Amino acid sequence: MNCPKCNGYRLKPKKLENGLLAFACDNCQGSLLPMLQYLQWAEQHSTTIIDACIEFKLDETSQALLCPKCSGLMTKYRISAQSENRLDICNRCYETWLDSGEWQLLKHLQVLDKLPKIFTEAWQKNIQTEIAEENQQNRDKEHFENDFEQIKTFKTWLDKYHKKQDVLIYLNK
Ligand SMILES: [Zn+2]
Ligand SMILES: [Zn+2]
Repeated sequence: MNCPKCNGYRLKPKKLENGLLAFACDNCQGSLLPMLQYLQWAEQHSTTIIDACIEFKLDETSQALLCPKCSGLMTKYRISAQSENRLDICNRCYETWLDSGEWQLLKHLQVLDKLPKIFTEAWQKNIQTEIAEENQQNRDKEHFENDFEQIKTFKTWLDKYHKKQDVLIYLNK
């Protein structure tokens, strides 16, 4: 199999973790992870892996990739709202492409055991909601400036208060 990113580079077997074999490219440090291998490994190991907090070089491929195994078009799925990185998966053979550093990123974000979930509509929707909420909060921050924290504290309290409607009426008086 050849690297989906680098012309003329063959993927070589590489140990991602103890008991987890992937195929990696020497040139871009990306790796191809067979889903079945991953699932078998994750069942026993993923929750015991602790983030070692080592520094890692992150890469992200913007162009569409073709599956090294079946040449089918791979689909991109964002990992989390905190990072722009996306994983590529082949919808036919479930091979997953990880750019350089993305395995370490999964560890860092503590989603190493969540691979199949990341490839769901629900996961992707949650990320979009989180991003939208963050953008809204940034706009509010800009608008209220130094008073924002106080207003936010008040809102948090008000949202849970059993006489919320009465308070709103009172404020509008
Ligand atoms: Zn490569
Ligand atoms: Zn494929």
